[in-house]
Amino acid sequence: METDYLVVGAGASGLAFADALVEEADVEVTVVDRRPAPGGHWVDAYPFIRLHSPSAYYGVNSLALGEDRIDEAGENAGCYERATGAEVRAYFGAVAERLEGTGRVRVLTDHEHVGRGEGGERVRDLRSGEHLDVAVRRKVVDARYLEASVPATHTPGFDVAPEVRFVPVNELPAAAGSTASFTVLGSGKTAVDACFWLLEDGVDPDAIRWVRPREAWFHDRSQFQPLEQVGAIFTGISLDAEAGARATDIDELFERLEAAGRFVRIDPSATASMYRGTMLSSRELAAVRRIQDVVRLGRVRRIERDRIVLEAGEVGTSADVLHVDCTALGLRDAPAAPIFQDGRIVLQQVRHLSPTFNAALAGFVEAHREDDADKNRLCPPNPHPMSMDDWPRMVSRTWRTERRWLGEPDVAGWVASSRLNLLRALPDHVGEPEVRTALERYLTHVGPAIERLQQLDGSNGAGASGLPGRGP
Ligand SMILES: Cc1cc2nc3c(=O)[nH]c(=O)nc-3n(C[C@H](O)[C@H](O)[C@H](O)COP(=O)(O)OP(=O)(O)OC[C@H]3O[C@@H](n4cnc5c(N)ncnc54)[C@H](O)[C@@H]3O)c2cc1C
Repeated sequence: METDYLVVGAGASGLAFADALVEEADVEVTVVDRRPAPGGHWVDAYPFIRLHSPSAYYGVNSLALGEDRIDEAGENAGCYERATGAEVRAYFGAVAERLEGTGRVRVLTDHEHVGRGEGGERVRDLRSGEHLDVAVRRKVVDARYLEASVPATHTPGFDVAPEVRFVPVNELPAAAGSTASFTVLGSGKTAVDACFWLLEDGVDPDAIRWVRPREAWFHDRSQFQPLEQVGAIFTGISLDAEAGARATDIDELFERLEAAGRFVRIDPSATASMYRGTMLSSRELAAVRRIQDVVRLGRVRRIERDRIVLEAGEVGTSADVLHVDCTALGLRDAPAAPIFQDGRIVLQQVRHLSPTFNAALAGFVEAHREDDADKNRLCPPNPHPMSMDDWPRMVSRTWRTERRWLGEPDVAGWVASSRLNLLRALPDHVGEPEVRTALERYLTHVGPAIERLQQLDGSNGAGASGLPGRGP
């Protein structure tokens, strides 16, 4: 088999890249994934998952996800719709079909890339066991570098005694009816989802124990609403710039951001350090705050029949308790690597909180630039955050990169019109007083903020790999 590009991974990143590339260049692309369907981690998502961000700026560039509707009821009321896991899977299925319909893209699910062979890249058909040799004329695209670890497929980092009732969050709806007592394990958005699902299902908050090794910072979803509400996103960005320009250290920076409504934490009296770039609504926050039995004794070491042993102590448990595993990492914390390399593209975050936009941008840049150094200048890697210490580097790098795009009319034009750009409706709203104020605040503070945030960045702008972060 021959192809111009071999994309390894048919998740959101691989598909968004392939979609943008074939839109812009007359090339042949083969996408392989070892999962049985396109969509990456969404294929194994828990039943009650939804996008945490609006559908309006998620997916691939050429196909809308949802109808840009504003929800009228429920915890997302007043905000743009968020697709369910099933809707996301159906969407990526439709994306794969559309791509194949171009006649220039093959999507091979149940196919695993196993490395380089003598006749080219080796791909194994997981159903037949046969190997294919794929001759790649241009590049291998690594769309699995940040591959997500999700509860259904990960192995917990602790031992669980066989008699303990322990399920991945995927099995919670099926198992919940058989018990009246729950222990949710995990600090992130998945654990919030599990707790919220239980509460919505009528479980008494006092019947839920929450083992939360770290306190997390979350974004307030109402500040990430696009289209008609884009003014709120830009107001938020301008508040980030103001806080960044004035901050004296990272703790004080987060105090400012929390006071400005940019960040929330479930327990404001607890010190928060974790930050994975996830969002909550005020209703979700209010609901999960009703759970009072929070265990903060570090990570779980093992669960025995009658006790949970943690890094800094232990608590009792029993055979009646259903333990719900929400400890999977989510997106991998892979170190930064150049995105465009000789014969290879390694998809990573460029602009923060915009995973599919970034993959599509890489597709556009690959189609329109020759030189890898030039492509890397436009798409410097910006590792996904793990903790609040990563916020200064991540945000200042986004702002510096966005400035570079403005100097390139084709890139700036693509960014302005992309449905994956959360700010795309901004030009339609610049006349609004709120947006004008935000623009003034942003323009006043963004330069000093970039300087200040680079000083607060523990890696001195270099990122985990030591790649140079500073520059024009
Ligand atoms: C639970 C969860 C919810 C999220 N929600 C949002 C959200 O609401 N909004 C948002 O903007 N971002 C969200 N994200 C962030 C995330 O970037 C995107 O949602 C996105 O789906 C990640 O896609 P991906 O293609 O990078 O990775 P994945 O979905 O992990 O896909 C990588 C694929 O590579 C395949 N693969 C790996 N190795 C091989 C191999 N050797 N051969 C063949 N195939 C291989 C895997 O099978 C996998 O399907 C979420 C992340 C998680 C974990």
